[in-house]
Amino acid sequence: MIIVMKSDSPSAEIERVSSELRRWNITPEKLEGKHKVVIGLVGDTTEIDMRQIQNLSSFIEQVLRVKKPFKRASLEFRYGEPSEIVVPTPNGPVTFGQNHSLVLVAGPCSVENEEMIVETAQRVKAAGAQFLRGGAYKPRTSPYAFQGHGESALKLLAQARVVTGLGIITEVMDTSDMDKVASIADVVQIGARNMQNFSLLKKVGATGKPVLLKRGLAATIEDWLMSAEYILAAGNPNVILCERGIRTFDKQYTRNTLDISAIPVLRTLTHLPIMIDPSHATGFSEFVPTMAMAAIAAGADSLMIEVHPNPAKALSDGPQSLTIEAFEQLMLDLAPLGKFFGRWATNDNATTTPKFATLVSSSANF
Ligand code: PEP
Ligand code: MN
Repeated sequence: MIIVMKSDSPSAEIERVSSELRRWNITPEKLEGKHKVVIGLVGDTTEIDMRQIQNLSSFIEQVLRVKKPFKRASLEFRYGEPSEIVVPTPNGPVTFGQNHSLVLVAGPCSVENEEMIVETAQRVKAAGAQFLRGGAYKPRTSPYAFQGHGESALKLLAQARVVTGLGIITEVMDTSDMDKVASIADVVQIGARNMQNFSLLKKVGATGKPVLLKRGLAATIEDWLMSAEYILAAGNPNVILCERGIRTFDKQYTRNTLDISAIPVLRTLTHLPIMIDPSHATGFSEFVPTMAMAAIAAGADSLMIEVHPNPAKALSDGPQSLTIEAFEQLMLDLAPLGKFFGRWATNDNATTTPKFATLVSSSANF
């Protein structure tokens, strides 16, 4: 349930309503949006009489029940206002969100050695990326496949961060590695295979670090949003959703199927920012540029692209990795499209007015 306060509500009145609710044994959560203050009530609110709440204050504009099972992740919970996730990086804050420029994330599947990670970081930065991605702990189908260099790879990521100032995105697979990963990552990735690892979700929720939550291989949109809800419920509001392809029946020509429709669907359901990973979605580097363009056209807030200086020799995910030169070319090709939609950063990560804003807000249904 949410209580929408009128825009001129004095803060003392908001506080008074909140303390009244606490006396009723309900835990209110104040959410300050750009235009409105919303008080979220989570938990079993079935017995609560909405009129009784409405009568608490003349500054209450509306009381709404959130019918979806995901509460904090729902669009209603922020009264239709998209979340802005501001990630501090050495180069300055980068904002993920619907009213901001596209955030570009690039780098190898795995951190292999110092030279390759630092070189890749420098070159993707020069081409326009704001974040370096790279795995230290790798979820591999085969126990005999390269599992990642672990802690030493984290140190190399930290080094690449110092050299380039790029933010770092890397995956955590095990709760016992959380502190190590969170100490160097600017955004902690939960991989597709761990999307429903609930202890991991609770733990990453407790860190407060921004989280990139990849969609599970066979997860429905609701499963995915319920996993986001675990992180939000643990007190961490900074969740970015990443669509990375779902498993369908073709394994020969594509690795997964990019669910591009997830973008407009999620826009009607959640306020959380959306990233698209066309690399894992297609599995082949030659299809990555087309799907990156489709993602921009469909309104994605961020792109994650695997880039390797020598994909033929990559220790993981070589076939889907772009060479550095191909990534540079891709950035040149994406720029006109990004600019057309008002989502391409000039020098900063300044707020823009995306052409999709009107379309999206008109489809949000309260
Ligand atoms: C990755 O980002 O390298 C990765 C393993 O992704 P996913 O969890 O989407 O397979
Ligand atoms: Mn990979």
